[in-house]
Amino acid sequence: MPRPPLGRFVEYVPRVTYFKPAGIPMRDLDEVCLTVDELEALRLKDVEGLEQEEGAVRMGVARTTFRRILVTARAKVARALTEGKAIRIEGGNYQVTTSKRFKCENCGLIWEVPSRTDQVRTDQEEANMTCPECKAGRIRRVDHGRHGFGNRPCGWHGGSSPA
Ligand SMILES: [Zn+2]
Repeated sequence: MPRPPLGRFVEYVPRVTYFKPAGIPMRDLDEVCLTVDELEALRLKDVEGLEQEEGAVRMGVARTTFRRILVTARAKVARALTEGKAIRIEGGNYQVTTSKRFKCENCGLIWEVPSRTDQVRTDQEEANMTCPECKAGRIRRVDHGRHGFGNRPCGWHGGSSPA
């Protein structure tokens, strides 16, 4: 057995994992499979508005890898929207982060914040953070928790689509 590739870090595991065009019976519907790590790249770049460099750091991958994931994810979503396909989100190669470590650029303090991996964490919260020690606002994310994982292709269970 080849060793599975190291998981990409994701901070967000979606609750809603199936999107379906209205008014089309499932049997006539094609679906596009978006993996959890692909969704994370989309989220970091297009929802959080990060640069590719930052997104790559957050996911623990090279910038070129991040770009490749992002391009694939955008293409899948675009195809679903233009061709009227359902989107299933599952699978991928990822590790869910469970804590976030921050560093104050002013005094050098490092501290950890538990992450709620089962819900959307508010970016507002992160953007408004100040150092608990010196109250400076120049905070940098420096680490990832490393618990939870996924390493399956999208559509791994086969079976029928949800109605
Ligand atoms: Zn500080």
